[in-house]
Parts: sequence; structure tokens; C-alpha cells
Amino acid sequence: ALGLSRQEDRRVYAVNEVSLSVDQGEVLGLVGESGCGKSTVGRMIAGLLPATSGDLAFEGKDMSRPSVDTHLNIQMVFQNPYASLNPRQRVDQVISEAAIYHGLIRKKDASSFVAGLLQQVGLDASYASRYPHQFSGGQRQRIAIARALALNPKFIVCDEAVSALDVSVQAQILNLFMDLRESKGLTYLFISHNLAVVEYIADRVAIMYLGRIVELADTRSVFARPNHPYTQALIADAPRLDAKVVEHRPIQGELPSPLKPPSGCTFHPRCPHAMPRCSQERPALTSIAPGHWSACHLNDTGASA
Ligand code: SF4
Ligand code: MG
Repeated sequence: ALGLSRQEDRRVYAVNEVSLSVDQGEVLGLVGESGCGKSTVGRMIAGLLPATSGDLAFEGKDMSRPSVDTHLNIQMVFQNPYASLNPRQRVDQVISEAAIYHGLIRKKDASSFVAGLLQQVGLDASYASRYPHQFSGGQRQRIAIARALALNPKFIVCDEAVSALDVSVQAQILNLFMDLRESKGLTYLFISHNLAVVEYIADRVAIMYLGRIVELADTRSVFARPNHPYTQALIADAPRLDAKVVEHRPIQGELPSPLKPPSGCTFHPRCPHAMPRCSQERPALTSIAPGHWSACHLNDTGASA
């Protein structure tokens, strides 16, 4: 289930009965192992996939029956800038096509429009007449970002948007996202399996495991005082953003199928602290400190029983 609705000027997202509110201008990181459902959440929010159930609204508009204008507010930037750009389209077509189609600009204004967007993403206006294969991975991701900006979104869902890039280029693209947040008041859902990237860019972090949020807090709290055993394991394994050699020590056990999740706390087969009740009762996401939420029976005062 995914819910998305507007409450005053916060937008509220619910994934499997959990609400996530995102402030305007905020970067909310969404972290988890591949297969945990993070991309599904991002695509549901962007309207590329229907929500499995529940209400889906953005700025008061029902998005369970999507309309064009609501979806233009939300754009996605994907992992692979090689696959997401049509190799037969020139950069100016890539960037301006949807804006022309949706009537946001007139065709005769496209070249100045494209030049302005290229400049906003740190590329030279002369690149407009080139093709995607003529660019590096980082440049292609800048083109994909310019294409997203062309529709004047309020919200950008970044799904592993820097994961395919060299570490030095990752930092440049992350800084571009931050600059665009400042200049355009953008809000981001930043989906990544890479905790170091999320620690760098996000204001708050939601940790997802098998389709549920298991921990949610401001970024500093998540990294300084991770509460959920899954979050603790992720952070213990995380390579640093500046690491030359990425050493991957996966968490013990396989990620179970989200279609057949384990009973009770879905993390219990892999959790070093699992207790008998963990396989029977699903822990609720509860507040453990102001703004800090975790779903683990260890937080119950009566857990020792
Ligand atoms: Fe581990 Fe139990 Fe907490 Fe789940 S509820 S994370 S199994 S201690
Ligand atoms: Mg994914």
C-alpha cells in the first residue's frame, strides 16, 4: 500500500501503512538492499506504477487516476544515464521534447530553453547539437537532470542516480542536486543502497526492509544512534564515500522474497537479537526519541519478559 496526500504544506507518503512526511526543500533518503522495494516506492510516487492500494494524492489531487499535470510535478532521475537517454536523439531533443509535447514551451523557443537548462546543470550550451554517446557518464547524468528540470518539477525522485558513476563524479552530481535544491526549491526522494551517499545528501533517512520502513530519523541520528538491528548492520557494512576499495560485507543471510515475507518482524531470520516473539508479532514503527522512529521489539519496555 502506498499513500500520498497533502497535509498543510507537508506531503505525506505511506508505504505499508507507514506515513512519511516530506518538507518542501527537504532531501529524504530511502535506503535498503536491492529488492527491498525502494524503487517500487519511488515509481509509485512518480506515478510510473499504480499504487497497490490506498489513496494516492499529491497537492490535493488524486493520483490513483493519474493526470498529466500532477505527474509533471514529479520527475525521476535513474541510475543508468546510458540506458535512459535515447542514443538517436540529439541533446536538444532529449531535453526539450516533453516540454514541447506538454505545451510548456513553443518549438521556436526550444534552443534558448535548452541552452538555459544546460547552463543550470553545468554544461556548455554548444552541447545541444551532440548525441548522448559523445559524453561521459557524469555528463550524461547532467543531461538526464536537465531533461527532468525541463518540466519544472517540484519533486524529483532520484533512484540510484549516482550509483553508476565514478566516486569523484558522484560528488559532483550530488553537489549539483544540492545547488538545484537551493536555486529551485526542489524536494527530493533520494533512493540508494549506498549509505555514504545518503549520509552526504539527505536531511532525513528512511530505512526500508522488505517493503516496510523499519527506521526513520534525521540523518545525524540514524548514523550516530542507529536503533534498528537492520540499520546497525547496514551501517557496520557501509563503505565510505571516499573509499578507494569498496569492501562489501553483506549482512548474514539472504534477503527473503518480499512476496513471501517472514512472519512477525520480517528481519527476524537475519537478526542477531531475535527473541521468540519476533517471529510471531510484527513490531510497529514507534517513536523512540523526537523525530526518531524504529520498528523493533527491543524498544518495548516490557521486552525482557
Ligand atoms: Fe530483531 Fe526482533 Fe527487533 Fe526484529 S523485532 S529487529 S527480530 S530484535
Ligand atoms: Mg532499485
